[in-house]
Amino acid sequence: MTVSRDIIIIGSGIGGATLASSLAPTGAKILILERGPHLQHTPEARDDVAIFQKGFYQSDEEWLATDGERFLPGNYYYVGGNSKFYGAVMYRYRKQDFTPRPHPEGQSPGWPISYDDLAPWYDEAENLFSVRGALGQDPTDPPRARDFPFSAVPDEPAMAHIRQRLEKAGVTPASLPLAIDIKTWLAEGKTGWDAFPNTGKGKIDAQSGPLAQALKHPNVELWPNARVTRIETDDSGQTATSVLVTRDGREERLFAKHIAVAAGAVQTAALLLRSANTVHPAGLANSSDQVGRNFMNHNTSAMITMDPFLKNDCVYQKTLCFNDFYNNSPAGTGPLGNVQCLGRITGNILKAQVPILPAFLAKAIAGRAFGWFLTSEDLPNPQSRVMIRGNDIVVDWQRSNMQAHQQLIAQTKKVMKRAGFPIVAIRTFGRKTTSHQCGTARLGIDPHLSVVNPDCQSHDIANLWITDASVLPTSAAVNPALTIAALALKAGKAISQQLLANKP
Ligand SMILES: Cc1cc2nc3c(=O)[nH]c(=O)nc-3n(C[C@H](O)[C@H](O)[C@H](O)COP(=O)(O)OP(=O)(O)OC[C@H]3O[C@@H](n4cnc5c(N)ncnc54)[C@H](O)[C@@H]3O)c2cc1C
Repeated sequence: MTVSRDIIIIGSGIGGATLASSLAPTGAKILILERGPHLQHTPEARDDVAIFQKGFYQSDEEWLATDGERFLPGNYYYVGGNSKFYGAVMYRYRKQDFTPRPHPEGQSPGWPISYDDLAPWYDEAENLFSVRGALGQDPTDPPRARDFPFSAVPDEPAMAHIRQRLEKAGVTPASLPLAIDIKTWLAEGKTGWDAFPNTGKGKIDAQSGPLAQALKHPNVELWPNARVTRIETDDSGQTATSVLVTRDGREERLFAKHIAVAAGAVQTAALLLRSANTVHPAGLANSSDQVGRNFMNHNTSAMITMDPFLKNDCVYQKTLCFNDFYNNSPAGTGPLGNVQCLGRITGNILKAQVPILPAFLAKAIAGRAFGWFLTSEDLPNPQSRVMIRGNDIVVDWQRSNMQAHQQLIAQTKKVMKRAGFPIVAIRTFGRKTTSHQCGTARLGIDPHLSVVNPDCQSHDIANLWITDASVLPTSAAVNPALTIAALALKAGKAISQQLLANKP
């Protein structure tokens, strides 16, 4: 049977689900193809041993590094994508992130659009994800037309105390912008949410947020367990016509007027490259040779701080951040990055990271440990890239700008010591931590240097759109999900205008 839709969306993560929610009210026939299944509501969802030590939710798909190592990336394939596990921090990029600026080891090139261009889409994205936050606390917050949809998630008592200590230590703590309905989350289980899967409604992720809204419309359909293996074009190569999808062991060809790829930055690049044909021998949307290039992943570290006289009795902990070094270092060497709480580290989570620790010792340390997540910008570099080799996805991440990250670590250590934490430990994440992957199909004005235009439309194929983390031209140093959503909403407006214009 021939199935034809107005639009097929590949992937139900932040980018795909947000696009679906934007297009749903148009009445267009929308089919979302998602490789993964629905997450089930089982006890493992709140079991830190199952999640962190046994890798219960981890995929067995390995990626290949250029040194020959095969590794299991921290990439999830479920309805809702990686956001099912995300920390729900919903930051806007800072205004300065949109303009070129020098870093200690290179230049961030800025965006072809300004913060002001994206600001209305950020407003809409915050509504869609019911973001909680507090105005006026973070001096780096960009200007905004309205308040957050909901007030900030409250600090637990220990974090309220640490907020005071940080203030005394001379930095400016602020409430994290979060897509968490804390009462609902805790009613479903007394754990943190960062890296825990959301099987209820407490975390507003791609599925519980925009996808649920989209699926209320009778014109929107979701096929889970449906993996797209190829996108096809007509003979001229100018129009994308169909996708090949494998479902229940069978391959089908599905047709659509528009095709949007939102499979995540690595998988989107791989799919476009695998879809090469005679007119597009280097892969679809790739006349610029930029597909797969400029792969970025953020430079991130976990920091644990301890005061032997201060217990950590938090359940979730993740409410604070500071951006005092975001736009410049104290020495004026350039932007360093963001510091935010990690989710509460339990003994079992700590032991998963440091397996040689005896369980009793891990528990004792965790009882006094406060965890932080430090993020610095990874700069775009065409040599840092995703490729395909046979059936393998090859990730050649050439991380950049580590000097800035080392400076961020050093400055944060000083702050923590001043804040009364004599014990500070740090661990920098490597290539297996792919949570903030982006940049492999970057957005730009020049078709020779970019893959999509500022509406996320392929420069080469007018009915092919890319609406996930791939299109981010820079990684900035804040979490990416809200920016992915804002761009998908912007793309949704452009696509709906085209659908409307082509209506008989
Ligand atoms: C543990 C963790 C914590 C994080 N915390 C935060 C945070 O606090 N704030 C933040 O902003 N970001 C956070 N992130 C990052 C954030 O989750 C991602 O940036 C975001 O979800 C990316 O969205 P996406 O649409 O680009 O891709 P994805 O979420 O990867 O979605 C792509 C979807 O496409 C599907 N797919 C892939 N290939 C195919 C195919 N061939 N056919 C059909 N379907 C396919 C996948 O299964 C997936 O569902 C976190 C990530 C992780 C893993």
